[in-house]
Amino acid sequence: MVFFKNKEEGPEKWKEKYLRLLDEQEQSEKQFKANEELLCKTIVRFALAVKGLNRQLDPHLNRIRNLLKSGLQSQQLQHELAAFSAALAKLEDSAETNFADAGLLFEFLGKQYPPLQLRFDHVRDDYENRRFNNNQGLFLALLELIEAENKAQALPALGIELPAGDIDVDAIHIQLIRLLDNAEIPSFFAADAEQLKQRIQNERQPLGRVFDDTISLLLSIKNHLEAEQREMAVFLAALTEQLTELGIRATGVNLAAENSLKKRNLLDRTVSEQIQELKEKAENATQLEPLKQVVSSRLSTISEQIQEHNRREQQERDRVSQEMQALANKLKEMETESGELRSRLDVAQQRATRDPLTGLPNRLAFEDRLADEIARCKRHKSPLTMIVWDVDLFKAINDTYGHKSGDKALVIIAKLLTEHCRQTDFVSRFGGEEFVMLLPDTNAAAGLQVAEKLRNTVQGCSFNANGNKVNITLSGGLSQYREGDSTEALFERADAGLYQAKHSGRNRCVVV
Ligand code: GH3
Ligand code: MG
Ligand code: MG
Repeated sequence: MVFFKNKEEGPEKWKEKYLRLLDEQEQSEKQFKANEELLCKTIVRFALAVKGLNRQLDPHLNRIRNLLKSGLQSQQLQHELAAFSAALAKLEDSAETNFADAGLLFEFLGKQYPPLQLRFDHVRDDYENRRFNNNQGLFLALLELIEAENKAQALPALGIELPAGDIDVDAIHIQLIRLLDNAEIPSFFAADAEQLKQRIQNERQPLGRVFDDTISLLLSIKNHLEAEQREMAVFLAALTEQLTELGIRATGVNLAAENSLKKRNLLDRTVSEQIQELKEKAENATQLEPLKQVVSSRLSTISEQIQEHNRREQQERDRVSQEMQALANKLKEMETESGELRSRLDVAQQRATRDPLTGLPNRLAFEDRLADEIARCKRHKSPLTMIVWDVDLFKAINDTYGHKSGDKALVIIAKLLTEHCRQTDFVSRFGGEEFVMLLPDTNAAAGLQVAEKLRNTVQGCSFNANGNKVNITLSGGLSQYREGDSTEALFERADAGLYQAKHSGRNRCVVV
């Protein structure tokens, strides 16, 4: 037997070939093993990644993960993969809505149909406990509730009977369109809603897609409304601040009247009530436009109230201001009157204490001054001297030249006495042709010097009476105050001096 046709195909060669093939197979098995491991790892990771996305698929994925631990060859794994594919295909048909989206749908419907809230909760409970075979069942249950509510509200009937038994996809499409028609779609989403209705009507899309789109639109509307409410809350907060500021400014008029305070409190309360009402309306509002209208109308009311309040307060201010003006005028009148009275009083006092002929203080003023000077001299222990003057033979002057000439002579004597003594000395007309002087800080000796000087001055003056030169002389009596003297005692001593001067020949001065 010839096993080998040529040398090249000899046993050595085949052995080599066999070993090489063996190597290659080993290599390829290794590669296969590595690929299998990689595939298993990938599937396991994929299964982990999609875990929780769908409850129906999760058990399949768990089983597949476990089976993969014993490799890809497992018979069971083949079955499980087939079951998973079938579940997946079924899922595509039913296009199940996940629970989160359904939650948003229930929330939206609850807001649209508040009276149905309790019944929606029951449907939601059924849905979440998987009592519906599919989503159509869920939507039919919801539509039934809404239809009943619309009928109860006397809204136009939907005109479509709910399908009994088998599910009519067209009927569900129409019901969805009705649902969209009856829902309060904000104008901002009107175009989207219209487009969605068109798509539901014209395109034969799977129900799952349609529901997804509807829910997505409703979700957008809900988010939009929430954003609007937030925006509105911010707007209202700013508005409230402005109104409060406005209220404070409007009511901050400084009127002391209690009446005004009451009015201010009333306005504050009214404005606060309006603002509170606005806040409540804003919190319950689902659309911005009608809310803005309410806000605008409330603002007009508040503004009118503030204007009315300001008008009344202005009236009140005008009234108070007029009253104040009247009072000020009255006060001015009284001031003028009292000024006049005071000057009249001054004049009267002047008259009462002044001699009208000579302008010198009279006897009354002298008595007042004498009491003051004695008190002062007691206080300061200073000397005080009194001079009592009497015009010599004055009767003869009157008799010879007339009474008017006598008056003139009295005025001249008064002037000479005043001008030739110290500022602090006091000169008065005691009565008739008698004058009395008080010399503070002056003792009797110094007083006598002053008296002599005055007497000489009067004697030396040339008095003209009706063209005749007349000599006028004075006689004077002096006395210094002594401790314990009364006003009368001092005067009596000085008067006694005068008496002596007269009796010893006139035109002289005598100190007692
Ligand atoms: P004696 O030196 O003694 O004082 O003489 P006498 O004349 O001054 O004294 P008598 O008391 O007799 O006269 C005083 C006169 O002074 C009488 C009176 O008419 C006059 N007389 C008194 N007051 C006034 C007056 O205001 N004007 C004028 N013209 N004369 C007066
Ligand atoms: Mg006399
Ligand atoms: Mg006389």
